[in-house]
Amino acid sequence: MKDQREVIAFYDERMLDHAPDMDAPFLPTRLDRRVREMLASIPVRWRYPEQPGRLQAIYNLLQQQPVPQVSFEPGRPATCEQLARVHTSTYLDHIFSLRGKNAWLDMDTTAVSSGSVDAAEVAAGTAIAAVEAVLQGRASSAFALVRPPGHHAESVRARGFCLFNNIAVAAAHARAVLGCQRVLIIDWDAHHGNGTQEIFHADEDVLFFDSHRAAPFYPGSGALEDIGVGLGEGCTVNVPLPSGSGDTAILKAFREILVPAADYFRPDLVLVSAGFDAHRFDLAMNVSHEGFAAMTAIVQDIADRHCNGHLAMVLEGGYNLDSLSQGVRTVLQVLAGKSVDEPQEFGIAEVDAAIEFHRTAFMSEQEEDRGH
Ligand SMILES: [Zn+2]
Repeated sequence: MKDQREVIAFYDERMLDHAPDMDAPFLPTRLDRRVREMLASIPVRWRYPEQPGRLQAIYNLLQQQPVPQVSFEPGRPATCEQLARVHTSTYLDHIFSLRGKNAWLDMDTTAVSSGSVDAAEVAAGTAIAAVEAVLQGRASSAFALVRPPGHHAESVRARGFCLFNNIAVAAAHARAVLGCQRVLIIDWDAHHGNGTQEIFHADEDVLFFDSHRAAPFYPGSGALEDIGVGLGEGCTVNVPLPSGSGDTAILKAFREILVPAADYFRPDLVLVSAGFDAHRFDLAMNVSHEGFAAMTAIVQDIADRHCNGHLAMVLEGGYNLDSLSQGVRTVLQVLAGKSVDEPQEFGIAEVDAAIEFHRTAFMSEQEEDRGH
């Protein structure tokens, strides 16, 4: 263990009340027909993958195998004023009008159930609570375990399981109320954070770094050439990667693109859109738990060097419950001070063990004697 650090994990059961179901009526009617046709072509019965069991799996694992130095706190709902820093009032009025209802918002599978709007307010408010905890010095770092996720939500629309852009709401709050000037947002989810990019595209005080599986993988945005516009030109950094990219590729991108960009930008707060669908079990990319640990160490080092370690993570995707929950636990261990080994290519540790196992199998007795 290197130095020990206090970490707060924010978890709130109100976010379990977001439970969309494929039988909910779609809105509007034309969309209803198109989505139903799309779903009918899938041979297995389709289930909404962004489901309450994701948070429960994480919480259960952390109860069964607690990480020392990690404590839990509940979240809280974001206010309308806090949400309105990154979403238009027209969009917010539309979402609030769905409170208590079952509905579909978007072609690409964003739905609400009766508890969803309240859950989404708690998700965004909990991201704010995590940022406050680190900026107030109550913890070295914090992890907001939230859903619905946020990074696909744009200023004017819900997309890809996301209603409110939780990390954007937290970044905007840090700047408006908590005295931050320059916020670095790192998005390591396997999908491009199109919403976060859109919200801060012209903003010179938010550096957005996003490594993701390249188009045509969902949502299809995040080209290398998207670098921001206007005053924000140069403050968007996309690293699209082919499917199957793993630890070596991501860590090279972090060390050779993210680190120099962060050193140039000098953030006073570091936020991470921490999705775990880049893990190999989620089938989009090929990152291992050791890879997530090494990514966490790099991010923490950036925060240590520039902003007194002020680092908050906000959960995004990750749909395999085993790799999701183990991934969160791995990141929390590093945040709490566990030292990190450089990941090896998958299988090397097993080959090393097999070499040792078979070492003497094909040696003559004399060679074996000389070997000892
Ligand atoms: Zn994702």
